[in-house]
Amino acid sequence: MKLSNKIQSVEASGTVKFTPLIQKLREEGREIISFAIGEPEYDTPAPVVEATKHALDAQKTKYGPVSGIPELRAELAKQFDGYDADNIIISNGSKHSLYSLFQVLCDPGDEVIIPNPCWTSFPQQVKLAGGVPVLVDTINAQLDCEGIEKAISPKTKAILLNSPNNPTGAVYPKKDMEQIARIASKNDLYVVSDEAYHIFIYDNIDYKSFFAFEEVRDRAIITKSFSKTYSMTGFRIGYIAASKAIVNAVAKCQGHTTGNVCSFAQYGALAALSLDKRILSQWRAELEKKREIAYGCVSKFFDCIKPQGAFYLFPNVSRYLKNGKTSEDFAADLLEKAGVAVVPGEAFGMPGHIRISYAVREDILKKGLEKMTEVL
Ligand code: GLU
Repeated sequence: MKLSNKIQSVEASGTVKFTPLIQKLREEGREIISFAIGEPEYDTPAPVVEATKHALDAQKTKYGPVSGIPELRAELAKQFDGYDADNIIISNGSKHSLYSLFQVLCDPGDEVIIPNPCWTSFPQQVKLAGGVPVLVDTINAQLDCEGIEKAISPKTKAILLNSPNNPTGAVYPKKDMEQIARIASKNDLYVVSDEAYHIFIYDNIDYKSFFAFEEVRDRAIITKSFSKTYSMTGFRIGYIAASKAIVNAVAKCQGHTTGNVCSFAQYGALAALSLDKRILSQWRAELEKKREIAYGCVSKFFDCIKPQGAFYLFPNVSRYLKNGKTSEDFAADLLEKAGVAVVPGEAFGMPGHIRISYAVREDILKKGLEKMTEVL
């Protein structure tokens, strides 16, 4: 008996595996500060919880439409000029959106270009679809557009963008996005743009969604999520905004995989869309402050790009790696000696680095940084 070659070629998620490990250490009585999983510290806003409870009371507990409840799709479409509800499909989070997208885009051997370092799941999801991830290293965490163009082959199907970026926090400037739009047009490629961190932008910089480039709208596929934006990680709700052809293809796939997304959770998501936007501005401002705290400390020890979005730092720790030690060993040491959990760069295709999520409570952030400082 043998499992498929496909599943054997896939690596386990380098981020989610930390949650049970940290829980186990805590159960053993260790005090662990986690900068590992990327999750906002905030409670899910009360109106979202209330609307979800209300939906439960109203028996919104049955099968629903595969593509999501119509009112949520219609409301989400309003962000996308010229789109209507049929351009939106609700999923069980960005991870699920991306999984389905690669299923509908890739034939066996088709290539997807991914700027590296990248979120742990991107290459694995391409492989799960029978595709081949083609990693192109970034330059100082920014896109190497020339390198991306050179990596295109007759098998290339799509370029994957993720700005603000996980794990680096880099935000891509408009000129680079334009360049990618040009490259995609010239080579007849899709552009999948994972914009899960779009509200976490700092320094007042100008952020552009890939949707902004009208001339390539037919090839743009935007994925967004409620998880980080509204602190609803456990609800598992995300969505895709794309051409109707793509949305219909993803619906075909979802119809055979998940059926519908949790019915009552979608009513919580609907309520999230009418939250007072000041809450989100406050979260963004608090995260910007935490970025300063975290970057101020971490940059004393390591080379690190100052992120302008998301809530991660991705320092290069290689000067601490003596005698053949890897960043995985370094992260294990940090957990053992400082009780601080981080994710090693191996999970993001870039050994020699660690990822630090600073979206934790400020006092916890400071305490964790102090513990790291002592050990370093
Ligand atoms: N996306 C978050 C992270 O990178 C959550 C974990 C995951 O889904 O990978 O930490």
